[in-house]
Amino acid sequence: MNIQIEEKPKTERAGILKGKKGVILGIANKWSIAWGIANSLHEAGAELIFTYQERVKDRVEKLAEEIASGQISCIECDVTSDEQLEKAFQEISKIYDGKVDFIIHSLAFANKDELEGRYIDTSRSGFALAQDISAYSLAAVAKQAEPLLEKNGGGSIVTLTYIGGERVVKNYNVMGVAKAALECSVKYLANDLGPKNIRVNAISAGPIKTLAASAISGIQSMINEIAQISPLRRNTETEEVGDTALFLVSNLSRGITGEVIHVDSGFHVLAAMK
Ligand code: NAD
Repeated sequence: MNIQIEEKPKTERAGILKGKKGVILGIANKWSIAWGIANSLHEAGAELIFTYQERVKDRVEKLAEEIASGQISCIECDVTSDEQLEKAFQEISKIYDGKVDFIIHSLAFANKDELEGRYIDTSRSGFALAQDISAYSLAAVAKQAEPLLEKNGGGSIVTLTYIGGERVVKNYNVMGVAKAALECSVKYLANDLGPKNIRVNAISAGPIKTLAASAISGIQSMINEIAQISPLRRNTETEEVGDTALFLVSNLSRGITGEVIHVDSGFHVLAAMK
């Protein structure tokens, strides 16, 4: 059965985020989920700032030029450095006059050799590294963003997770445990920041072939299988994740916080993988 998917909903996005200002952390290249999100939010009229890790500076600056020439500032921010986080948010505050509407946290890292084999073999340092970059960083970013979101009268923080944080997915190992911590952080942060009208949610995306995903052993066969068995019988596209992020940073989702929304062609409802 071959079902035609509707044209991309460009016109439906227009204007939804007009006047909103936000920051996107985690673009590495055109395949990044953060780049898909940037496109959706830009088309919806949002003003954007990108942060980047030093090693991808040139690529991120090129992408910023491509999407909105001369309009997007790119700021270095390695989330393992408190100093860089603080400096980045000082700069963001200057550019946006102390107010921000949304933050997209789309980053994670684990050593490649711990994304295969048995979880039991995870090293102490590999565990700490994956937790630091992939889970703790959300709290660290939220802490820096809090005054800017508060001054704005509230706002939205969105992070990216994966079903391997809820259930055992072959080879996901240390990253699964980091995603479980990330999803739990979403709940605690939602409770901390809710009284300031700041919402915190996660998107649990289906597997997409990105730089980070290619470190996971066997990712391609997982992607192939999901296209066969997920309820929608197809894989997740970054654009679909982007449009869910659009919803989560817009006023349309104003009653939602502490939530994990699956954008995975419905795969999460199945009892088990083969
Ligand atoms: P990606 O490789 O394009 O993006 C990962 C980003 O993390 C890169 O931009 C990298 O620079 C950044 N990063 C790593 N360490 C950092 C650090 N110390 N400081 C600042 N930035 C750092 O891959 P992606 O798949 O787009 O990943 C984005 C998010 O989506 C991650 O949280 C990932 O776990 C999640 N996710 C991915 C998939 C998938 O299948 N690709 C599925 C579900 C969730």
